Formats: sequence, structure tokens, C-alpha cells
Amino acid sequence: MTPLAQRILTPLFREQLDLMLRLARRNGTLTAVVMADTDDFRRIKNSLGHRQSDAFIKTVALRLAAALRDSDVLIVHATADSKSSVARVTGSEFAIVLGGLNEPHGALRVAQRLREAAGAPVTIGGSEIFPSMSLGVALFPGDGETSELLSEHAELALGQAKDGGKNQVRFYDSSMERRASDRLSLESSLRHAIEERELFPVYQPRIDARTGLVCGIEALVRWRHPERGVLAPAEFLEVAERSRLIVPLGEYMLEAACRQNLAWQQAGLPGVPMSVNISATQVAQPDFVHTIARVLEQTGLRPEWLELEITESVMMQDAAVASRVFLDLKKMGVRISIDDFGTGFASLSYLRDFDFDVLKIDRSFVSGLPRETRTAALTCAIIELSRRLGLDVVAEGVENAAQATFLDNNGCHLMQGFGYCKPIVADELSLFWAECMTPHSQQRLAAALPA
Ligand code: C2E
Ligand code: MG
Ligand code: MG
Repeated sequence: MTPLAQRILTPLFREQLDLMLRLARRNGTLTAVVMADTDDFRRIKNSLGHRQSDAFIKTVALRLAAALRDSDVLIVHATADSKSSVARVTGSEFAIVLGGLNEPHGALRVAQRLREAAGAPVTIGGSEIFPSMSLGVALFPGDGETSELLSEHAELALGQAKDGGKNQVRFYDSSMERRASDRLSLESSLRHAIEERELFPVYQPRIDARTGLVCGIEALVRWRHPERGVLAPAEFLEVAERSRLIVPLGEYMLEAACRQNLAWQQAGLPGVPMSVNISATQVAQPDFVHTIARVLEQTGLRPEWLELEITESVMMQDAAVASRVFLDLKKMGVRISIDDFGTGFASLSYLRDFDFDVLKIDRSFVSGLPRETRTAALTCAIIELSRRLGLDVVAEGVENAAQATFLDNNGCHLMQGFGYCKPIVADELSLFWAECMTPHSQQRLAAALPA
């Protein structure tokens, strides 16, 4: 048995599944193995504590049981160490066998019903939780003939349901195996890349359109892959996130960016904030604040020259933890900016409750300027919102003169984008920066913007 099948197949579940497969073989019916997992259970557990999260999972289990027929089998997943403790609820995963199906669509209907049943709000200890569930389905005989294979394939489909944004049902298809193995090999080469220093930062300047001066810099990660050339973050960040390699990757970027910023200051360039992108996984590390403090101390960069860029999704993961972390960082003197504003839930309550320093208007807004009237109206409203809240507002992805002029005329003067400068390595940025400090930089930059 593979380790995966070993983990899923508790003896009791295996026995039940084998029995149902024998029946299905005899009757010529379909059987579905469904793996279901409560989304974000770790976060729920952290906020509820041990006892209440057990009660929560039991509620979910009862709902699933109620949504099944008596002849179906539901196993509350017990960890591998316990031999038969179906009652001991430890994980958040459920294994379900649906027998006697006549067609695949039947499995989909039941899976959807299970997802809906698990998704109704649960009130525990005075707080209301809105659970959601991801489900993966494998069908006998098409997706496998043995209990091992079916369980593994259902688990793979569950992984895809989670990757695809959770709260959904996925059926196994054979390409999943290839994708899973591609991901594994990318993960192992990324691990290697971090050790072998194949990652490196590039830097993109933030320009003040009123002066033509560099007023900030953003560090962006790149991977010099030995076979595939230089890779952009879109090709590996998801894997980094899932494998938690984002933690060492993020720390490496922080250190490199802080060192580089100090080196520019020591070379006589004016002090500007260096932005580093931070993921939700990093913020959730218990020692995150300590890591930032340590990196600042080790590199010698003053905290006011470091700006951490977070997206709305970071706040959404766990707003209470995130607020506490950012408060500590602000006390330290580090700046916090909200990246890609307008693409997530753009919840105004985050802006009300937390004192950010910078708001970055997402590129998807800027690209529609100035033609799209609704985009233009929203952009102006975001600029006004930032002004009233006392935030610096930066436009991302400024590519041409029409966009820059519109933004500048409407009160957003800080800009980042290919129109001014692409992300480049440190030495190249030194040259660009020096050029910006010679007379008439503002006019030259404006003239160089594509029409
Ligand atoms: P972001 O933080 O919003 O960074 C801006 C992205 O837009 C960068 O893509 C940049 O190259 C690109 N960009 C800037 N100006 C323009 C423009 O005028 N036109 C177009 N089409 N694109 C422009 P990049 O470097 O591929 O990074 C993508 C995302 O990956 C970043 O979005 C950020 O969320 C994430 N990322 C990058 N580096 C790191 C890192 O070190 N750690 C973490 N956690 N995330 C990172
Ligand atoms: Mg950013
Ligand atoms: Mg952005």
C-alpha cells in the first residue's frame, strides 16, 4: 500500500469499502468513494479551541450522516495511529462510500447535497461559523477496481477541489495524477532552488509623477531554473504556498531586499521604502514579527525603510491574527501597504479597523483607464478614499501616458508600471535611479511613456 492509501484506509473503512465493491461487482452497479474535508479547519480550530472544534466537527459529521442513505457508509476520519476509533474525532476529513448508483450523475447529486449540508452555519459557544467543504469523488469501476486505488484517486480529486478554490466537488480524472506528480517534482526542485540560491530579487521603482523621482521600490522574486530559464512567481508561488516553502522563500526575499536597500542608501542614494510582498502563510507563522525584527537587526536597515505588502486575502485568512501582527509591526516602525486593492473583497471594514500606510490600486483598474467610465469612476473613488484616510495611494501597472495623466490629474501621483520601468536587477536599477536624479527627469520620463 502507498503511504497515502495507508493514511486513508483505516481497517474499518477498508472492510466496508471491500464489501460494497463486492456487491457492486455482483450487481453491476457503480460505487463512489468520496473524500470530504472541512475547509480551513486549522483556522477554525485555532479560533475555537480544542473542545469546541470537536463539537463543531461532530455537528458537521451528523449533518453528513443525515444527508446519506442508510446503506451508504460514512467514516469520520481517525488518524492513522488509532486502530478503530471511529468515534474519536481528530481530523477534519471524512470518507464516504455511496453504493448502488446507476449513473455517475447520482454521485454528483449526493456530493452536492453533502456540500450543502456541511455548509449551513454552525453556532458554537456564542459564535457563528460558516463552514464550507471540499469533496473529491472516484467511481468504481471506471476510476479504479481496488479500495486502495479508489481511495487514492478520491483523495487526489479532493486536493484538486481545494486547489481550485475550495467549497466544491471534483471528480477524479486521469490527468490529475500527472498534475500531482508535476507539482511534486516542482516542489522538490523549488526546495533545491532555495538551498542552491537559484532565487533572486528584481526591483521595480515607484515613481512620483510630480517630480520624476524614485519614491519607493518593490522587490519581486524570480527563479533561475536550470532547465526552464527565469521563471516568474505565477509559475511557482502556488507550489511554494502549498508546500510552505513560501516561508524560507519569503525570508530570503526580505533579507535580500533589506540588504539592497541599505546598500543603496550607503551609496548615497536617498532613503526610500522597500516593499516586500508577504503571503498569508508567513503572517500566520507565530514568529513572523520576530523574523522581521531579526532581519532588520541583522541587515541594519531602519524599520521605516521597510514596507510590507499584503493582499486582502491575508486579512481574510484570519483578520484577528493579522491585525495583531500588523499592530506590532507598526509599533516597530515598519510600513504596511495593501496590495492589489479592489480585486479581493475590498472589505471596507479592514480599512476602518486597520491603519494601513499605503493603498495600491490594482492593475486591472489602471488598465481600463481612462476609457472605461465605470473603472474611471471607481478609481477616482478609491483615490478619494485613500486621501480621506490619509493613505499614500499608488497605481500599479501604469503602462502609458493616458493612464498616467488621468491618475495624476485625479490625485494619484505615485505610480509603478512598465511604462516607467520594468522590474530589473539591482545594478540596472542603480543606473535608472541615477538617471532620475539628473535635471528634467520628470519631463524625460513623461516623454518616454508610450502613447
Ligand atoms: P504584485 O505584488 O502585485 O506585483 C506586481 C506585478 O505586476 C509584478 O509581477 C510586476 O512585474 C507586474 N507589473 C508591474 N508593472 C506592470 C505593468 O505595467 N504591466 C504589467 N502587465 N505587469 C506589471 P510579478 O513579478 O510576476 O509578480 C506577481 C505577483 O507575485 C506579485 O504581484 C506578488 O503578489 C507575487 N510576488 C512576487 N514576488 C513575491 C515574493 O517575494 N513573495 C510573495 N509572497 N509574493 C511575491
Ligand atoms: Mg506587490
Ligand atoms: Mg499588486
